[in-house]
Amino acid sequence: MTKDWNLSAAPESTSHVQLQQEYGLFIGGKWIKPSDGKYFETSNPATEKKLASIALAGRKDVDSAFKSADKAFESWSKLSGAERGKYIFRIARIIQEKSREFAVIESMDGGKPIRESRDIDIPLAAAHFFYYAGWADKLEYVFPGRKVRPMGVAAQIIPWNFPLLMAAWKIAPALACGNTVVLKPAETTSLTALKLAEVIDEAGLPPGVVNIITGDGSTGALMTAHPTPNKLAFTGSTEVGKQIYKAAIQGGKKVTLELGGKAANIIFDDAPIDAAVEGIINGIYFNQGHVCCAGSRLFVQETVYAEVLAKLKRRMDSLIVGDPMDKNTDIGAINSKEQLKTIEHYLKLGSEEGADIYQPAGELPKKGYWCKPTLFTNVAQSNRIAQEEIFGPVLAIQTFRTIDEVIEKANNTPYGLSAGVWTDKGSKVFQLTKALKAGVVWANTYNKFDPTSPFGGFKESGFGREGGMHGLEAYLAFD
Ligand code: ADP
Repeated sequence: MTKDWNLSAAPESTSHVQLQQEYGLFIGGKWIKPSDGKYFETSNPATEKKLASIALAGRKDVDSAFKSADKAFESWSKLSGAERGKYIFRIARIIQEKSREFAVIESMDGGKPIRESRDIDIPLAAAHFFYYAGWADKLEYVFPGRKVRPMGVAAQIIPWNFPLLMAAWKIAPALACGNTVVLKPAETTSLTALKLAEVIDEAGLPPGVVNIITGDGSTGALMTAHPTPNKLAFTGSTEVGKQIYKAAIQGGKKVTLELGGKAANIIFDDAPIDAAVEGIINGIYFNQGHVCCAGSRLFVQETVYAEVLAKLKRRMDSLIVGDPMDKNTDIGAINSKEQLKTIEHYLKLGSEEGADIYQPAGELPKKGYWCKPTLFTNVAQSNRIAQEEIFGPVLAIQTFRTIDEVIEKANNTPYGLSAGVWTDKGSKVFQLTKALKAGVVWANTYNKFDPTSPFGGFKESGFGREGGMHGLEAYLAFD
């Protein structure tokens, strides 16, 4: 859709990318074929073309991954923090060196615009490794007066929306604290995690410190039920999170969960409106809305509603939906056929619930999975499109008159991951940050991430924090 803009295509080259046709499991520093010989395909959601065959790890493979992590823990946990830090710095630097290849693979496998994988996902992943490398030899300063030690083996399961970045969020703090890991990427986006395994190999990490195994929910369930890990770390849907929580309780394991969200993005009438409109766009259409902290519920103060809506629609009309590999693209492909079905179900539901739908005009590509940026007006608090996580480029708009009203509406959700506030008044920002039940509240910005800043939720959005010094706590035992 290039309604207002007739930009020439600016495709990123894919010729420098090195992909294998078939990937095994990275266990004990070696590439292993899956024990029961099963593979699945990963494809490009923008073209529906197959990219590679990926091993489906079964019971024996999960077992050998944990055995190798357990064995590696003996020596890795005894290494000095400074030595551990050197390895982690090395991983960070190699990711930077290969950042272009990582960015292209991330966009090919997951459908996100190359501009986002190039400017956000990959640099932030490297930054996480740099940040936690720096903490490896300073753990006693983080928790003064307390004796800390590594927890042991961590089982880590990640989703498909930020594949390399989520792997970095999980692996970097675990290694800095002296743990070893078995990580499983999501089944639609395994490729950058497998590339990361190559980086880990190149960085010379002792075998078994990081094991990367691939597979679907069945592999994930085997991991969480396994007796070896004493820590489960999961990012994904609230539904699966609840199952993992159960497995953790039954197995007496520590657990951190980063689950769904339905964030309120709140625009007061004293806000810088043009900036706020950009913040709304970034909040909900970034990464096709496949973002757990997406600003999917917009609350606009009644006095500026007409202005905000008109400007928002105008800005939506200019968004370019299409080839993720084109550097002009704003909204790429939906990650999978299944996810597109879920989003389309909600689009239908919104209209059936009586809300009004708006989508820009224009054609979508014929092949691949696509959804236009969408907004709903005339939305009621009780509507499912205002209550449930859609995980797509779909915004539900409501209005408010007073601060108390918007606080009540914003908190009327089972989730509590993030929120946004747009106002000229610092006092209002502080009032809202106190009153909103959300792990992160952005003021006059949205979707800002930094490795130094903790991230995590309340209520059905999970618990535990990742990032910052708080992120270390999740991987340490205290005497
Ligand atoms: P989504 O619904 O957004 O696809 P999921 O929560 O299903 O997210 O997936 C997140 C991760 O959890 C993926 O790596 C997936 O393979 C894994 N997973 C799915 N089901 C289970 C399960 N029952 N136990 C453990 N992991 C699972």
